[in-house]
Amino acid sequence: MTHSDLPTVLVVDDNPANVRVLEGILAAAGYRILPALSGESALRAARTVRADVVLLDVRMPGMDGYEVCRRLKEMPAGKDIPVIFISALQETEDKVQAFRAGGVDFVTKPFHAEEVLSRVRTHVDLSRSRRQLAEARDHLEEQVEARTQALTVSNARLELAMRHEQALRHLLTLSHASLDIGEYLQQCLEWISKVFGWLPPQRKSAVFLTRNNGRSDQMELKASIGMPAEQLNPCARLAYGDCLCGEAASLQKVINVAASKCPVELRFPDTTPRGRIALPLMAGKLTLGVLMHTIEGAHEVTAEEQRLLEQAADVLSMSIARHYADQRIAYMVYHDELTGLMNRNSLTERVEAELQRADRHAAGFAVLFIDLDHFKQINDVLGHEAGDSFLKTSAERMALALRSGDILCRWGSDEFVVLALDLSDDAERAAAEAHALATQMAEVTARAVIVAGHEVQLNASIGIALHPGDGGNSAELVQHAELAMSRAKQAGRNLIHFYRPEMQSDATRRMTLCRELRRAIDERQFILHYQPQVDIDGRLLGAEALVRWLHPERGMVAPGEFIPLAEELGLIVALGEWVLSDGMRWFGQLPDAVTGTPTLPMLSVNVSARQFHEEGFAERCIAVVAAAGVAPQRVELEVTESLLLMDIDGAQRKIAVLREAGFAFAVDDFGTGYSSLAYLKSLPVQKLKIDRSFVTDVHLDIRNAAIVRTIIALANNLGMSTIAEGVEQRAEADFLREAGCNSFQGFHFGRPVAAADFSRAWMSPSR
Ligand code: C2E
Ligand code: MG
Ligand code: MG
Repeated sequence: MTHSDLPTVLVVDDNPANVRVLEGILAAAGYRILPALSGESALRAARTVRADVVLLDVRMPGMDGYEVCRRLKEMPAGKDIPVIFISALQETEDKVQAFRAGGVDFVTKPFHAEEVLSRVRTHVDLSRSRRQLAEARDHLEEQVEARTQALTVSNARLELAMRHEQALRHLLTLSHASLDIGEYLQQCLEWISKVFGWLPPQRKSAVFLTRNNGRSDQMELKASIGMPAEQLNPCARLAYGDCLCGEAASLQKVINVAASKCPVELRFPDTTPRGRIALPLMAGKLTLGVLMHTIEGAHEVTAEEQRLLEQAADVLSMSIARHYADQRIAYMVYHDELTGLMNRNSLTERVEAELQRADRHAAGFAVLFIDLDHFKQINDVLGHEAGDSFLKTSAERMALALRSGDILCRWGSDEFVVLALDLSDDAERAAAEAHALATQMAEVTARAVIVAGHEVQLNASIGIALHPGDGGNSAELVQHAELAMSRAKQAGRNLIHFYRPEMQSDATRRMTLCRELRRAIDERQFILHYQPQVDIDGRLLGAEALVRWLHPERGMVAPGEFIPLAEELGLIVALGEWVLSDGMRWFGQLPDAVTGTPTLPMLSVNVSARQFHEEGFAERCIAVVAAAGVAPQRVELEVTESLLLMDIDGAQRKIAVLREAGFAFAVDDFGTGYSSLAYLKSLPVQKLKIDRSFVTDVHLDIRNAAIVRTIIALANNLGMSTIAEGVEQRAEADFLREAGCNSFQGFHFGRPVAAADFSRAWMSPSR
């Protein structure tokens, strides 16, 4: 206990001897004594030092004890100090007066140490506990006060938080769907500035959006509040890293700075100091834009305000991201994802609109339906990515070839539709204009494209429907153009056909044919005919197996009528396999030369490109031939040049496998296809079949003669043999023989006939 902590007794007596005695008693008991020899000095002391108890003599010259007591009680510091009067034993009258003056007790003179100590101790203790009590009460009151204040603050904060939450919720309900995004953001800004009332007035706010839906590093000002006209222009466009907002966008960080501490050079420095905050609007890793706020004054936005603005920014980011998603969906409804061209929906709408416009203005227009020939093979052979890339290139090329005002749409996988507008009102001229455009389209699509490291070239088949005349609505016009296109396909592809009304019934017939052909494959309604192949002296070298369809009602159908359809429908694979196994079964059970009958040295089988590219084709061929007990050396596979259009490497590999197994190869219809002479030399084929079109009247037609000679020379140079097909006249045969052709096939030597007839005619002993 330090000296000042000792219980203190103010001893007031005009007699120094009394003071000394009392001091002696009390000091020994551990009290601190403040002596005062007069009432005045006692009151002075009480003002500066806090006494626990006062021992006060009643009778003193000048101010007596009662007066001192009264005055003490009037002092704030003195009113709680207990006063013990000092008096003589007999002075009862004094005691009454003393209590009245505010005293609490007496000690009598002469002093007994025991009495003095006991009374002083009692009152010091009493006074101390009373003081502690009072202090405790005061402290309690302070605590209550502090708590009340804290509660008020937290209430206010809660209320603010609730208001902000409501505001944020309202922000969420502002719908971007029905509004232009700029208009929506403007509403958001206004709402933010209205609700976030704590933001000082005369603020400026703005929203910037990153161009290209967040995929650029350029931003545009989309909405603003409080920006003066002269600021709108410099701030209309911002690059990432430019000004404070550009910086926030590129760093993807909130920047909150006081006016004097701006880290970047501002596009538009304010005349009055402003604190600024720029908050990036984010969607994942993408910066969609920036929300900017300035506040009046040199200070920055407080942490609490920043938090709220960050929440507002989150809401904005979410809405903007959703807006972009909606936009994308809307875009997808009207555009083709892969090529970016219009899709069916938008074309249909455009055609309808044109129909109405055309009705009013009597203007003509055309619908061109474009389908790439053999596109499926790119997908099958080079894969879908290569197919996609081919389509994109074709789309770009076609788009470039359009006349201004024409519309190009991707209709389906490899189908495109052009709406050719503002054609002549003269029907014939309109048709000529549409045809010219179609020719242009065919030309650009026919240019070779490099995909997946391969040079690919596809032609297009195009159908045209004209308005007025070819249809009353969009659906009809497109359907008729498509019908004309499929007619162009059937007629040999790479052609342009106009729609004609009779195509409709043809189409119905074709549909019936499709259905019947599927059934025919299931029910094996096919037989094979065999046509002889002979040498210069007319000796039988081999036969070509040619399929016929024994239609239940129509009788025998020639392959020209159903092979292209089977190819298109993919049925050729199953049909081809049947041909091979049926041909081999027949071939395998033919009597051998050993038995004395003239034998058939070779059998040729046609293999379509589609069938050839089928996975496992080579292995199946080998297996079928082996199962029939035929030596592969006696089997020739006739393939066409179109086989080489796709996947040269794959084709070469397959041919190599089959060559290794012993099979022979002939290129059928040579000269009519896409003559890839460059590839020919690297292909291990043994024979070129000169196409019938060159053989016809070869002895009369000098052009055919030239072509035939060239083919024969080519074959000789490459170490291949030749066979002429479609030889109908003796003169043709003579010419070919002279030109160096090795072998012949044609009606002049023998027609394709059923197996039994072939055996009888060509292999009977009587021959
Ligand atoms: P191709 O392979 O060029 O077959 C020769 C075609 O010419 C046969 O027609 C044959 O009958 C015909 N021909 C033969 N000599 C003469 C002649 O002197 N004059 C005339 N005008 N024509 C002659 P076909 O049997 O109608 O076959 C047509 C095409 O059908 C074949 O042409 C071939 O590309 C395809 N084809 C036939 N059978 C099959 C088959 O089993 N599989 C595949 N993938 N295609 C086949
Ligand atoms: Mg053939
Ligand atoms: Mg042929």
